[in-house]
Amino acid sequence: MQDTRTEIASLGEFGLIEHLTKNNETQNAGTLLSVGDDAAVIDQFGRQSVISTDLLLEGIHFDLMYTPLKHLGYKSVVVNLSDIYAMMATPTQITLSIGISNKFSVEAVEEFYEGVYAACEKFNVDLIGGDTTTSKTGFVISVTAIGEVAPDKYVTRSGAKVNDLICVSGDLGAAYLGLQLLEREKKIFLENPGVQPDLQNQSYLVKRILKPEPRADIVEWLLEHKIEPTSMIDVSDGLSSELLHICRASDVGCILYEEKIPVHEDTKTMALEFQVGSAACALSGGEDYELLFTIRQEDYERVAKNNDISVIGYITDKAEGANMLTKGGNKHKLVAQGWNSFA
Ligand code: ADP
Ligand code: MG
Repeated sequence: MQDTRTEIASLGEFGLIEHLTKNNETQNAGTLLSVGDDAAVIDQFGRQSVISTDLLLEGIHFDLMYTPLKHLGYKSVVVNLSDIYAMMATPTQITLSIGISNKFSVEAVEEFYEGVYAACEKFNVDLIGGDTTTSKTGFVISVTAIGEVAPDKYVTRSGAKVNDLICVSGDLGAAYLGLQLLEREKKIFLENPGVQPDLQNQSYLVKRILKPEPRADIVEWLLEHKIEPTSMIDVSDGLSSELLHICRASDVGCILYEEKIPVHEDTKTMALEFQVGSAACALSGGEDYELLFTIRQEDYERVAKNNDISVIGYITDKAEGANMLTKGGNKHKLVAQGWNSFA
């Protein structure tokens, strides 16, 4: 924690924007005009533009009690980049708008921007503008991400075909348990402020919720190996909900194998402690920001070589519905519980 506190009022709105963006350097040749004018100008050099926006509200999407501002800045950016990657596109620019209350100091907003700039640097994205306003209802963050893709090479949710294989990157369910852990420690702290949070050995789970990483590497790998997924979505709301989105948009059904769902060892251990199934965490937890996609059968051999991609099922005719085969051999209809609803 920094100990100096500069009131935002001492800089004023324009002074604050200037302060936050004075070292803002752009890295993309396509960023022709950045912060400082009425609008930014970008050139996509004949490629198509992909645009996505998100609104994050304090108390709904994040809790400042256990979310470091730097992580929040980083996460606000990367959850948007994840949407761009989920189109198999490359993010190039973002705009960032914030609503801040006077309980925030300049130092606090700076810390938030440190995370924003860290994400921009890591994923080679330029911050090209935004808006700044006063909020009376907590911290408000809105990010718009812009990306580029070769003409007509973007991948939607609607292209999955019968017999395509369902794939997912990384592992699922960890972010949900990370959140449960933070909520548990918060409750203990509120009841007894003397108790230090017990998050030892839980760095993986906590990192998955506080500092998610979008799968730029998976998109890059697929492009490099010329594997064109037939559909794609990022996992922000839990596997079942996302898979149902693909099925609905593609007008197909699916079979998902519970035993094939990738789950980290730490997730399994913590699921036992919380007495929930680790598959349930993956299916309904959300916030994992992995990529869920479908591929043609003929691409199986090549995809199987990537240890960070799991094949978890296949696409069926719509009439068969969306189902999961459990470890016990039972067939269950997939339901979208979405995140937090089974907390
Ligand atoms: P306007 O009055 O035209 O909305 P602003 O004074 O809000 O202009 O913004 C001036 C410049 O600063 C613009 O380029 C805008 O995109 C940028 N900007 C404003 N707020 C932010 C912010 N929070 N982060 C980054 N850039 C910002
Ligand atoms: Mg403005």
